[in-house]
Amino acid sequence: MTSRSNSKGLRTHYASQLKDSVGKEVRIAGWVEDLRAKGSITFLTVRDVTGLAQAVFKRDELPEEEYSKLKKLTLQSVVSVRGIVGRSLSKKLEFEVKAKGLELVSKALHPLPLDPRGRIDAGLDKRLDSRALDLRNPKNLAIFKLRHALVQSIRAYLISNGFIEVSTPKLIGTATEGGADLFEVDYFGRKAYLAQSPQLYKEQLVMSLDRVFEMADYFRAEKSSTRRHLSEFYSVDVEAAFMDEEDVMGLLEGLIRKAIEDVSRECTEELKLLGVSLKVPEVPFERITYDEAVEELKALGVDKKVGDDLLDSDLKVLGSAHKGFYFITKWPVGLKPFYIERIKEEPEYTYSFDLQHGYLEIASGGRRVHDRAELERRLRECGLDVKGFEEHLKVFGYGMPPHSGWGLGLDRLMMVLTGRKNIREVTLYPRDRFRLVP
Ligand code: ATP
Repeated sequence: MTSRSNSKGLRTHYASQLKDSVGKEVRIAGWVEDLRAKGSITFLTVRDVTGLAQAVFKRDELPEEEYSKLKKLTLQSVVSVRGIVGRSLSKKLEFEVKAKGLELVSKALHPLPLDPRGRIDAGLDKRLDSRALDLRNPKNLAIFKLRHALVQSIRAYLISNGFIEVSTPKLIGTATEGGADLFEVDYFGRKAYLAQSPQLYKEQLVMSLDRVFEMADYFRAEKSSTRRHLSEFYSVDVEAAFMDEEDVMGLLEGLIRKAIEDVSRECTEELKLLGVSLKVPEVPFERITYDEAVEELKALGVDKKVGDDLLDSDLKVLGSAHKGFYFITKWPVGLKPFYIERIKEEPEYTYSFDLQHGYLEIASGGRRVHDRAELERRLRECGLDVKGFEEHLKVFGYGMPPHSGWGLGLDRLMMVLTGRKNIREVTLYPRDRFRLVP
């Protein structure tokens, strides 16, 4: 991080930059983590986004009005400390600031709803109620620094593979995939919906842009309350002309490998704090067909037949046999949306896949229907109103290349990379059936 001062000159250095400034006068700014008086010396620890710094105040060496400011401080208040950087005797910190002056910038009003130092346990709900403060906890902050690195890695990877980043509407006039999990909104007196995925738009865009990706929030009126569903989630979507399902599975494998490499390299401190060690998975990932999954479940005593969906309980059973990343491929036509292409020789099945990590579904994709007549047939089969899709269908008469793609739940991938079991922990301000604030 480069040295910078804000307009009031409250900060010249971040905590992590003290090591480069021994003997120099600096100003550090952050929030009070601790305040300990030992005789005529007070130790003030100040945290900022980069870490912890200690400032030492000696009563004998400071004017009384400066030293007495310490009395007004409350934990978590924002302060700015001016002083000279020196080596520290503290076991935890190598450098410290020999304080010359102190400014209380913004006082934290007690009692605070939680202790962001994590010294008093707070449940997840309580933490989320005061998320802004909760993020001062280095472990929680580490999750979002890692998320930032992950997003950058994915973007760079897709761009290097020739994908163009796009942004599609989140307010839509027709349901993308039908279904009951849509949020309806009033759009100037008309019915509109919050987009549940960019599916139809991204398919249309391959006609001209060839390879597109979008990273954005989508909305699902999830009625069930699970640890892996949100009503607003962040998705990475790709769609590519002249690629088949194998091509986009390969792209996904490469993305996961690159993401783990990048995050492991760039987030060593964060991963340490989170207690996670990551291993770059071998490719190709294991592939089992849907039928094989059903056979496996049956062999393990689960009552399943071909055509049944794989329920949470089934995925848990499969997940304990298949640790790590693996694909479930070739799903029956009845279990996949209308835009997924049938296998010609086995029309009961589709060119489709889900990427799993143990029990957790991370991504879903496949080869798409690119023939208008077939798309209409599939819509009817799925019980959807063909007329409602006319806007989309007409595009298929402009010349549509064969194409494939997938959607990956970034929050779910974050759960894997951070070892967190609840999706709410890896989302800044999660939305679920019961939570709409903050
Ligand atoms: P699930 O079966 O787990 O509910 P889905 O089959 O509805 O997921 P898709 O519509 O295929 O999911 O969406 C693609 C990816 O988006 C999923 O693999 C998942 O990672 C992510 N995703 C979908 N819905 C949610 C949600 N409500 N919350 C978080 N992530 C989601």
